[in-house]
Amino acid sequence: MSKKNPEYDFKWCPGCGDFGVRRALEFAMINRLEETGLPIENNVVVAGIGCSGNLVHLLEGEQPYGIHGIHGRTLPVAMGVKMARPELNVVIVAGDGDFLSIGGEHIAPQAARNVNVTAVIMDNGVYGLTKGQSSPTTEMGTITSSTPFGKIEEDLDPLELYLTLGVSFIASGFSGQPRVLAQLINEGMNHDGMAMIHVQSPCVTYNDTFQLIKGNAREGIAPAMWDIPDEHDPSSKQAAYELVQQGGLPVGVIFKDESRLSLEGNMDTIRAKARERSVEQLMAAYTF
Ligand code: SF4
Ligand code: MG
Repeated sequence: MSKKNPEYDFKWCPGCGDFGVRRALEFAMINRLEETGLPIENNVVVAGIGCSGNLVHLLEGEQPYGIHGIHGRTLPVAMGVKMARPELNVVIVAGDGDFLSIGGEHIAPQAARNVNVTAVIMDNGVYGLTKGQSSPTTEMGTITSSTPFGKIEEDLDPLELYLTLGVSFIASGFSGQPRVLAQLINEGMNHDGMAMIHVQSPCVTYNDTFQLIKGNAREGIAPAMWDIPDEHDPSSKQAAYELVQQGGLPVGVIFKDESRLSLEGNMDTIRAKARERSVEQLMAAYTF
């Protein structure tokens, strides 16, 4: 059931990683409210389709605006909101299947535009809502409901993808650490450009990776998560590539390019140039 729509009845499975991401986003919005003094209505959450996208209905406490859009199209919808109301803080919530499969084609153009939105991607390595099919981040060889003899494709590395496509802020976190994750989301919100917060958020029903991420000393499982050291220079793309190639789950800010203008900044420049021209000059510029 949703506070916004009492007819909407959706529940996450007990123990789902997305509970921690929801808490982190709530913390981040409260932090932002305290930092800026702007009301909660200044925030808009744009959701994709999947268990993760249902986060927009399940937020507790003060409610931001929300749009539950269509599968894979969170980035174009978020860009539309930002173009119409640039003063709003726009946050995307989506999953690995939604954002990296059908939605994958939108990442490169929005990264090139440096659209000023923050995307929180909940990666559980599976399509949870539709009952456990393989997704782009499912490991090769994994048996799922759609790959009964093992997944045939190589799994995608989202952090390397974001770096390659030119996203200007990239952070990586874990749903089991909502306070840490909230800080990363806040840093992404404060970044003037496209921010990706990629979160390992295990699906306890179809792909429970909590133990692999956190480790289990009794079972002799070393934790996959590790904190990005203070010496890491997030302004260096080379250092960022070297970091993500170490594997496991790095937690922290991987890359941050503050030298670029956001889409809004570049549009202001273009508008200023257009204003300097006469109507005849503008018409001539569009004559083919
Ligand atoms: Fe969470 Fe998986 Fe259940 Fe979906 S199916 S709510 S991702 S545990
Ligand atoms: Mg998923």
